[in-house]
Amino acid sequence: MIELFDVTKRFGNDTAVDGISLRIEKGELCALVGTSGCGKSTTLRMINRLIEHDGGEIHLDGQPVRNFDEVTLRRRIGYVIQSTGLFPHWTVARNIGLVPRLLKWPKGRVRERVEELMQLLGLPVAEFADKYPRQLSGGQAQRVGVARALAADPDILLMDEPFGALDPITRETLQHEMRELQARLHKTIVFVTHDMDEALALADRLVVMHQGRVVQQGRPIELLHDP
Ligand code: ADP
Ligand code: ADP
Repeated sequence: MIELFDVTKRFGNDTAVDGISLRIEKGELCALVGTSGCGKSTTLRMINRLIEHDGGEIHLDGQPVRNFDEVTLRRRIGYVIQSTGLFPHWTVARNIGLVPRLLKWPKGRVRERVEELMQLLGLPVAEFADKYPRQLSGGQAQRVGVARALAADPDILLMDEPFGALDPITRETLQHEMRELQARLHKTIVFVTHDMDEALALADRLVVMHQGRVVQQGRPIELLHDP
Protein backbone atom coordinates (compact mmCIF):
# COMPACT_ATOMS: atom_id res chain seq x y z
CA MET A 1 0.00 0.00 0.00
CA ILE A 2 1.24 3.48 -0.94
CA GLU A 3 0.05 6.50 1.06
CA LEU A 4 0.78 10.20 0.59
CA PHE A 5 -0.08 12.62 3.37
CA ASP A 6 -0.11 16.30 2.43
CA VAL A 7 2.97 15.92 0.24
CA THR A 8 4.61 18.98 -1.31
CA LYS A 9 7.49 19.57 -3.66
CA ARG A 10 8.94 22.92 -4.73
CA PHE A 11 11.51 23.60 -7.42
CA GLY A 12 12.88 27.04 -6.58
CA ASN A 13 9.84 29.28 -6.30
CA ASP A 14 7.61 26.87 -8.26
CA THR A 15 5.34 24.55 -6.35
CA ALA A 16 5.18 21.39 -8.46
CA VAL A 17 3.14 19.38 -5.95
CA ASP A 18 0.96 21.27 -3.53
CA GLY A 19 -0.18 19.25 -0.56
CA ILE A 20 -1.57 16.04 -2.06
CA SER A 21 -2.93 13.13 -0.09
CA LEU A 22 -3.82 9.78 -1.60
CA ARG A 23 -3.83 6.10 -0.93
CA ILE A 24 -3.14 3.32 -3.42
CA GLU A 25 -4.16 -0.16 -2.35
CA LYS A 26 -2.14 -3.31 -2.89
CA GLY A 27 -2.92 -4.86 -6.29
CA GLU A 28 -4.62 -1.73 -7.58
CA LEU A 29 -4.10 -0.30 -11.06
CA CYS A 30 -4.19 3.43 -10.45
CA ALA A 31 -3.88 6.22 -13.04
CA LEU A 32 -2.42 9.62 -12.22
CA VAL A 33 -4.00 11.81 -14.85
CA GLY A 34 -3.91 15.50 -15.75
CA THR A 35 -2.53 18.00 -18.24
CA SER A 36 1.18 18.45 -18.82
CA GLY A 37 3.00 20.16 -15.94
CA CYS A 38 0.41 19.42 -13.24
CA GLY A 39 2.87 17.40 -11.14
CA LYS A 40 2.21 13.77 -12.13
CA SER A 41 5.81 12.73 -12.85
CA THR A 42 7.09 14.54 -9.80
CA THR A 43 4.56 12.67 -7.66
CA LEU A 44 5.57 9.33 -9.16
CA ARG A 45 9.27 10.03 -8.72
CA MET A 46 8.80 11.01 -5.09
CA ILE A 47 7.26 7.60 -4.37
CA ASN A 48 10.49 5.78 -5.33
CA ARG A 49 12.62 8.66 -4.07
CA LEU A 50 14.19 9.62 -7.35
CA ILE A 51 13.09 13.02 -6.02
CA GLU A 52 12.92 13.80 -2.31
CA HIS A 53 9.66 15.39 -1.16
CA ASP A 54 10.02 18.50 0.96
CA GLY A 55 6.80 18.40 2.95
CA GLY A 56 4.38 15.79 4.22
CA GLU A 57 4.89 12.04 4.42
CA ILE A 58 5.04 9.16 1.93
CA HIS A 59 4.52 5.66 3.31
CA LEU A 60 5.06 2.23 1.82
CA ASP A 61 3.15 -0.39 3.80
CA GLY A 62 2.97 1.99 6.73
CA GLN A 63 6.70 2.86 6.74
CA PRO A 64 8.05 6.26 5.66
CA VAL A 65 9.93 5.88 2.33
CA ARG A 66 12.69 7.97 3.89
CA ASN A 67 13.50 4.92 6.03
CA PHE A 68 14.06 2.59 3.07
CA ASP A 69 17.56 2.25 1.69
CA GLU A 70 18.21 2.63 -2.03
CA VAL A 71 18.66 -1.10 -2.70
CA THR A 72 15.37 -2.03 -1.03
CA LEU A 73 13.50 0.64 -2.97
CA ARG A 74 14.95 -0.49 -6.33
CA ARG A 75 14.04 -4.08 -5.51
CA ARG A 76 10.51 -3.32 -4.37
CA ILE A 77 9.59 -0.67 -6.94
CA GLY A 78 10.00 -1.08 -10.70
CA TYR A 79 10.03 2.08 -12.77
CA VAL A 80 9.20 2.47 -16.46
CA ILE A 81 9.50 5.71 -18.43
CA GLN A 82 8.32 6.66 -21.90
CA SER A 83 11.70 6.78 -23.60
CA THR A 84 12.37 3.47 -21.75
CA GLY A 85 15.73 4.73 -20.47
CA LEU A 86 17.53 1.69 -21.90
CA PHE A 87 21.30 1.92 -22.08
CA PRO A 88 22.01 2.18 -25.82
CA HIS A 89 25.38 0.43 -25.67
CA TRP A 90 24.01 -2.56 -23.74
CA THR A 91 22.19 -5.53 -25.27
CA VAL A 92 18.56 -6.25 -24.46
CA ALA A 93 19.58 -9.08 -22.10
CA ARG A 94 22.07 -6.92 -20.27
CA ASN A 95 19.55 -4.10 -19.92
CA ILE A 96 16.93 -6.44 -18.47
CA GLY A 97 19.44 -7.96 -16.04
CA LEU A 98 20.47 -4.57 -14.65
CA VAL A 99 18.73 -4.62 -11.25
CA PRO A 100 19.46 -8.29 -10.45
CA ARG A 101 23.12 -7.62 -11.25
CA LEU A 102 23.10 -4.57 -8.98
CA LEU A 103 21.63 -6.84 -6.32
CA LYS A 104 24.55 -9.22 -6.96
CA TRP A 105 22.48 -12.23 -7.95
CA PRO A 106 24.67 -15.09 -9.22
CA LYS A 107 25.19 -14.99 -13.00
CA GLY A 108 23.20 -18.14 -13.73
CA ARG A 109 20.20 -16.84 -11.83
CA VAL A 110 20.35 -13.49 -13.66
CA ARG A 111 20.42 -15.29 -17.00
CA GLU A 112 17.45 -17.49 -16.06
CA ARG A 113 15.46 -14.50 -14.89
CA VAL A 114 16.25 -12.52 -18.04
CA GLU A 115 15.07 -15.40 -20.22
CA GLU A 116 11.92 -15.88 -18.17
CA LEU A 117 11.02 -12.19 -18.52
CA MET A 118 11.73 -12.13 -22.22
CA GLN A 119 9.30 -15.01 -22.64
CA LEU A 120 6.71 -13.34 -20.44
CA LEU A 121 6.83 -10.19 -22.55
CA GLY A 122 6.86 -11.89 -25.92
CA LEU A 123 10.48 -11.24 -26.82
CA PRO A 124 11.97 -14.54 -28.11
CA VAL A 125 15.39 -14.96 -26.47
CA ALA A 126 17.16 -16.23 -29.60
CA GLU A 127 15.96 -13.24 -31.59
CA PHE A 128 16.28 -10.40 -29.09
CA ALA A 129 18.80 -11.17 -26.31
CA ASP A 130 21.79 -9.82 -28.20
CA LYS A 131 20.09 -6.94 -30.00
CA TYR A 132 20.80 -3.34 -29.08
CA PRO A 133 18.03 -0.83 -28.24
CA ARG A 134 18.43 1.00 -31.57
CA GLN A 135 17.53 -2.23 -33.40
CA LEU A 136 14.13 -2.41 -31.67
CA SER A 137 10.76 -0.94 -32.60
CA GLY A 138 9.08 1.41 -30.11
CA GLY A 139 6.84 -1.35 -28.81
CA GLN A 140 9.70 -3.84 -28.43
CA ALA A 141 11.81 -1.26 -26.57
CA GLN A 142 8.89 -0.53 -24.28
CA ARG A 143 8.57 -4.26 -23.53
CA VAL A 144 12.26 -4.39 -22.66
CA GLY A 145 11.69 -1.41 -20.34
CA VAL A 146 8.85 -3.27 -18.61
CA ALA A 147 10.91 -6.50 -18.42
CA ARG A 148 13.75 -4.57 -16.81
CA ALA A 149 11.39 -2.98 -14.30
CA LEU A 150 10.02 -6.42 -13.37
CA ALA A 151 13.41 -8.12 -13.13
CA ALA A 152 13.79 -8.24 -9.36
CA ASP A 153 10.09 -9.05 -8.93
CA PRO A 154 9.04 -5.75 -7.36
CA ASP A 155 5.57 -5.58 -5.85
CA ILE A 156 5.04 -2.06 -7.18
CA LEU A 157 5.39 -0.83 -10.75
CA LEU A 158 5.50 2.89 -11.47
CA MET A 159 5.01 3.75 -15.15
CA ASP A 160 5.42 7.26 -16.53
CA GLU A 161 3.51 7.73 -19.82
CA PRO A 162 4.38 4.14 -20.79
CA PHE A 163 2.26 4.21 -23.96
CA GLY A 164 2.75 7.80 -25.05
CA ALA A 165 5.15 7.31 -27.94
CA LEU A 166 3.58 4.21 -29.47
CA ASP A 167 1.42 3.73 -32.54
CA PRO A 168 -2.24 2.98 -31.72
CA ILE A 169 -2.08 -0.79 -32.33
CA THR A 170 1.08 -1.34 -30.29
CA ARG A 171 -0.36 0.89 -27.59
CA GLU A 172 -3.47 -1.23 -27.33
CA THR A 173 -1.45 -4.44 -27.18
CA LEU A 174 0.77 -3.14 -24.41
CA GLN A 175 -2.17 -1.71 -22.49
CA HIS A 176 -3.76 -5.12 -22.58
CA GLU A 177 -0.49 -6.69 -21.41
CA MET A 178 -0.27 -4.27 -18.51
CA ARG A 179 -3.70 -5.39 -17.30
CA GLU A 180 -2.66 -9.03 -17.70
CA LEU A 181 0.49 -8.45 -15.67
CA GLN A 182 -1.52 -6.86 -12.93
CA ALA A 183 -4.07 -9.67 -12.89
CA ARG A 184 -1.52 -12.48 -13.15
CA LEU A 185 1.34 -11.19 -11.01
CA HIS A 186 -0.75 -9.15 -8.53
CA LYS A 187 1.39 -6.04 -8.92
CA THR A 188 0.36 -2.66 -7.62
CA ILE A 189 0.64 -0.41 -10.67
CA VAL A 190 0.59 3.38 -10.79
CA PHE A 191 0.75 4.84 -14.27
CA VAL A 192 0.90 8.44 -15.38
CA THR A 193 -0.98 9.68 -18.41
CA HIS A 194 -2.28 12.98 -19.78
CA ASP A 195 -4.94 11.01 -21.68
CA MET A 196 -8.22 10.90 -19.74
CA ASP A 197 -9.72 8.29 -22.10
CA GLU A 198 -6.75 5.99 -21.55
CA ALA A 199 -7.03 6.42 -17.79
CA LEU A 200 -10.77 5.75 -17.78
CA ALA A 201 -10.38 2.68 -19.99
CA LEU A 202 -7.53 1.05 -18.05
CA ALA A 203 -7.44 2.04 -14.42
CA ASP A 204 -9.29 0.63 -11.42
CA ARG A 205 -9.07 4.10 -9.94
CA LEU A 206 -8.13 7.55 -11.21
CA VAL A 207 -6.39 10.36 -9.38
CA VAL A 208 -6.92 13.57 -11.33
CA MET A 209 -4.35 16.31 -10.77
CA HIS A 210 -4.41 19.99 -11.66
CA GLN A 211 -1.71 22.55 -10.85
CA GLY A 212 -0.07 20.35 -8.24
CA ARG A 213 -3.25 19.36 -6.47
CA VAL A 214 -5.57 16.35 -6.53
CA VAL A 215 -8.88 17.66 -7.81
CA GLN A 216 -10.80 14.39 -8.19
CA GLN A 217 -10.35 10.72 -7.44
CA GLY A 218 -12.44 7.63 -7.80
CA ARG A 219 -13.31 4.63 -9.91
CA PRO A 220 -14.03 5.32 -13.60
CA ILE A 221 -17.75 4.71 -13.12
CA GLU A 222 -17.88 7.22 -10.27
CA LEU A 223 -16.05 9.89 -12.25
CA LEU A 224 -18.19 9.37 -15.33
CA HIS A 225 -21.31 10.01 -13.28
CA ASP A 226 -19.86 12.98 -11.46
CA PRO A 227 -21.71 16.08 -12.74
P1 ADP B 1 3.65 16.35 -15.35
O1 ADP B 1 4.28 15.03 -15.13
O2 ADP B 1 2.24 16.42 -14.87
O3 ADP B 1 3.77 16.84 -16.76
P2 ADP B 1 5.83 17.36 -13.75
O4 ADP B 1 5.71 16.65 -12.47
O5 ADP B 1 6.84 16.87 -14.72
O6 ADP B 1 4.41 17.43 -14.45
O7 ADP B 1 6.15 18.90 -13.49
C1 ADP B 1 5.42 19.68 -12.56
C2 ADP B 1 6.04 21.06 -12.49
O8 ADP B 1 7.31 20.97 -11.89
C3 ADP B 1 6.24 21.73 -13.83
O9 ADP B 1 6.01 23.10 -13.67
C4 ADP B 1 7.69 21.44 -14.13
O10 ADP B 1 8.23 22.43 -14.97
C5 ADP B 1 8.31 21.48 -12.76
N1 ADP B 1 9.49 20.59 -12.65
C6 ADP B 1 9.48 19.25 -12.75
N2 ADP B 1 10.71 18.74 -12.57
C7 ADP B 1 11.53 19.80 -12.34
C8 ADP B 1 12.92 19.94 -12.08
N3 ADP B 1 13.73 18.88 -12.00
N4 ADP B 1 13.40 21.20 -11.91
C9 ADP B 1 12.60 22.28 -11.97
N5 ADP B 1 11.27 22.21 -12.21
C10 ADP B 1 10.75 21.00 -12.39
P1 ADP C 1 28.93 -9.99 -18.69
O1 ADP C 1 28.12 -9.71 -17.45
O2 ADP C 1 29.99 -11.03 -18.46
O3 ADP C 1 29.43 -8.76 -19.40
P2 ADP C 1 27.07 -10.33 -20.92
O4 ADP C 1 27.30 -8.94 -21.35
O5 ADP C 1 27.20 -11.42 -21.92
O6 ADP C 1 27.93 -10.77 -19.66
O7 ADP C 1 25.62 -10.42 -20.33
C1 ADP C 1 25.10 -9.44 -19.52
C2 ADP C 1 23.93 -9.99 -18.74
O8 ADP C 1 22.91 -10.45 -19.61
C3 ADP C 1 24.35 -11.15 -17.90
O9 ADP C 1 23.74 -10.95 -16.65
C4 ADP C 1 23.82 -12.37 -18.60
O10 ADP C 1 23.36 -13.29 -17.63
C5 ADP C 1 22.66 -11.83 -19.39
N1 ADP C 1 22.59 -12.46 -20.71
C6 ADP C 1 23.47 -12.32 -21.72
N2 ADP C 1 23.08 -13.04 -22.80
C7 ADP C 1 21.92 -13.63 -22.46
C8 ADP C 1 21.04 -14.52 -23.14
N3 ADP C 1 21.24 -14.94 -24.38
N4 ADP C 1 19.94 -14.90 -22.48
C9 ADP C 1 19.73 -14.50 -21.21
N5 ADP C 1 20.53 -13.69 -20.52
C10 ADP C 1 21.62 -13.25 -21.11
